[in-house]
Amino acid sequence: MAIATINPATGKTEQTFDALTDAEVDRRIERAAAAFAGYRRTGMAERARWMNAAAGVLEDEADEIAVMMTTEMGKTVKAARAEVLKCAHACRYYAEHAAGFLADRPADAAAVKAGRAFTRYRPLGPVLAVMPWNFPLWQVIRFAAPALMAGNVGLLKHASNVPRTALFLEELFARAGFPEGAFQTLLIGSGQVEAVLRDPRVRAATLTGSEPAGRSVASIAGDEVKPTVLELGGSDPFVVMPSADLARAAETAATSRCLNHGQSCISAKRFIVDERAAGEFEELFVAAMRAQKVGDPNDDDTDIGPLATEQGRADVEELVQDAVEHGATVLCGGRRPDGPGWYYPPTVITGITPEMRMFREEVFGPVASLYRVDGIDEAIALANATDFGLGANAWTTDEGEQERFANELDAGQVFVNGMVTSFPELPFGGVKRSGYGRELSDLGIHAFCNAKTIWIS
Ligand code: NDP
Repeated sequence: MAIATINPATGKTEQTFDALTDAEVDRRIERAAAAFAGYRRTGMAERARWMNAAAGVLEDEADEIAVMMTTEMGKTVKAARAEVLKCAHACRYYAEHAAGFLADRPADAAAVKAGRAFTRYRPLGPVLAVMPWNFPLWQVIRFAAPALMAGNVGLLKHASNVPRTALFLEELFARAGFPEGAFQTLLIGSGQVEAVLRDPRVRAATLTGSEPAGRSVASIAGDEVKPTVLELGGSDPFVVMPSADLARAAETAATSRCLNHGQSCISAKRFIVDERAAGEFEELFVAAMRAQKVGDPNDDDTDIGPLATEQGRADVEELVQDAVEHGATVLCGGRRPDGPGWYYPPTVITGITPEMRMFREEVFGPVASLYRVDGIDEAIALANATDFGLGANAWTTDEGEQERFANELDAGQVFVNGMVTSFPELPFGGVKRSGYGRELSDLGIHAFCNAKTIWIS
């Protein structure tokens, strides 16, 4: 895939970039290693000052940054602006809380025959972050803010279709005052990742993206015995029980499915509704999906802009076609509009059966599959009948049912009567093929630390 900014709303190539040569990559890794030697000794207050300065830049320049993101990957400018501000919040959150999260954890000294014994969190070194285009700023910041606050340095290999955002991120941390080399962007293709991962100066890696990319990075890192965090795809269930507020559930269902034009790992994708509520929910949900306004991502009243890549839209179309050929019913959408740009309409499909690809695969576009079930046991069984385990949504006012969903849904996060969202304050990650490890919260900062036992006689 060429490294290029191609506007998804027009299909026009705005700018192309040359990949770094192997020698340039080597120089940048060397710069990261050299930066780490000094950066690891900086104080928390200093790092917090730089991190708050990064937040300030994001807040002050949110409008320009948002337009840059929209031009590269097609999300609406209003959603891009919200993403920039969410990133600023995460920077401030870690600036404020990192020192507490990384404070020495005392142990019972007498029990281990020590004068003093405690756990101390030390940084690992240069960490490689392989990141996707869908939330081009947020996915990077949610790694970089905790990792830098812990004293690590970052090397970013961003998706090839968001090079301007990738370069901006390097510039952001430099302008905020972080030392040279503390955060660098490597403009490289995915074929150059293996050499970086195997380089002994690189100590760990994180990847957000597809399962094949995750499997490749994890196996190479495993071979090198380097820790990894993986955040891969999801096919989140959205379960609706009869006691739910169906109007609110249907509105939220459409918002979640159409989030980022359906290109979010935590968009609800499979809507599993108890028979007793199914007719009413279906009507409300289809109406809410139809009401989403598809159009120019630069307009403030647009809900859904184009998909990020031509290939991405072709993948969505193929999954819909496969379902229809095997007997599924399209309740709305299902056909790309004429004209330029990689648009795809909000779509609802019923009658999905296990032989259809959509039953098993993640649909990275605004396409919902709607299922009917008979009671909570069947709902939980179908919700868990997937290789993924990222998020799960459950709608019920029955406390017994809420407990069952909290305990029995195989997912990294369960949201009851709301939609799965990420917050710096809460851990984020998946189980099963959605990945492992946790980002955000205190767990996210500990992911790239050496939890070192210190024992002093
Ligand atoms: P990819 O997983 O291909 O891309 C994500 C990142 O990984 C990019 O930086 C990409 O680089 C890199 N990459 C890809 N293959 C490898 C590899 N073998 N070794 C190392 N790095 C690699 O996602 P796509 O953009 O192609 O999207 C395909 C599907 O992935 C989507 O349909 C969706 O299902 C899933 N996805 C999930 C995301 C999530 O948030 N969980 C985000 C994005 C995608 P490059 O761009 O140069 O190829």
